[in-house]
Amino acid sequence: KQLTELDRLAGDGDLGVNLARGARAVEESLPEFSSLSPVEVLKAIGLTVQNTIGGSSGALYGVFFLRAATALRAAHTSDPKTWAQACLEACDAVSNLGDAKEGDRTMLDALLPFAKDFADRLAQGHPTVDALEAAVVAGEKGAEATANMLPRRGRSSYLGKRVLDHPDPGAVAAALWLRAAVLASSY
Ligand code: ADP
Ligand code: MG
Repeated sequence: KQLTELDRLAGDGDLGVNLARGARAVEESLPEFSSLSPVEVLKAIGLTVQNTIGGSSGALYGVFFLRAATALRAAHTSDPKTWAQACLEACDAVSNLGDAKEGDRTMLDALLPFAKDFADRLAQGHPTVDALEAAVVAGEKGAEATANMLPRRGRSSYLGKRVLDHPDPGAVAAALWLRAAVLASSY
């Protein structure tokens, strides 16, 4: 509901409904995931969100999860550092598909701070649980910071300065699901 309201202010108002549909579809597949490898799960999530979310977010999240699966498969390890690297590569894929970079007021303004912070803290030797928590906060801060960013991609780019003072709905959504995913993880 909150996301639909923000997307109504900054886009076409379909984001909350679309993401909820995607999340429900992933939730329905959860029982099947228990027999799959992490790489297979990421691939399944990628295909599911691609087919159910729709809009720009559907395609962008599709490549996010599919690229993460590819990166993880290539790495042949379950080290958290590999996951951080997969997150960074997944952000790269989103960036390439949508031609957006950090500061353009998109989902990347939450996803990239999360991925970078997670990778940096692991590299500094922080325990995974602390690195994840800090990275989630970095993603949330990134999402909040979009309230001061001018939109350069997607529908909100047509609205220009009118969207200021409200955060980007896609970035808020990304921060929300990252927090939920980390809470649900076994770390
Ligand atoms: P639309 O209704 O324009 O098809 P959605 O409602 O599915 O798009 O998603 C809107 C959100 O998607 C935006 O708030 C933004 O965070 C994100 N977004 C839009 N365009 C891009 C892009 N080119 N790259 C990355 N993220 C984008
Ligand atoms: Mg929309």
